Amino acid sequence: MDCLFCKMVNREIEPDVVYEDEHVLAFNDINPQAPTHVLIIPKKHIATLNDIREDDLEVVGRLPLVAARVAREAGFAEDGYRVVMNCNEGAGQTVYHIHMHLMGGRRFTWPAG
Ligand code: C5P
Repeated sequence: MDCLFCKMVNREIEPDVVYEDEHVLAFNDINPQAPTHVLIIPKKHIATLNDIREDDLEVVGRLPLVAARVAREAGFAEDGYRVVMNCNEGAGQTVYHIHMHLMGGRRFTWPAG
């Protein structure tokens, strides 16, 4: 399958890993939008949020758990951080393998752009 993030899961492309377990991989974003910008993905290929099925709930539920863990380790869990999941082109999704952006280490404004 020609999916960039699947290639990272399979180590055809080497990600800058910050966390990994049986179901989840987290790595530094190549184009960070904050002092810490980590992408958290399920190892299973799921193209968009629209494609999540009941069977996927356990693994998808681990994404925010890992985000909070990485935020704690980075030291900004109490100050605050932003998680974002873009769905489809209108929201700016560019890689079609679901991913949670975890950004921290700066202030964020609302609403998001
Ligand atoms: O939400 P969206 O699909 O736009 O996010 C994709 C993210 O993947 C971007 O933040 C981009 O910088 C990141 N990326 C990466 N490594 C690549 C290609 C894209 O970290 N080789």
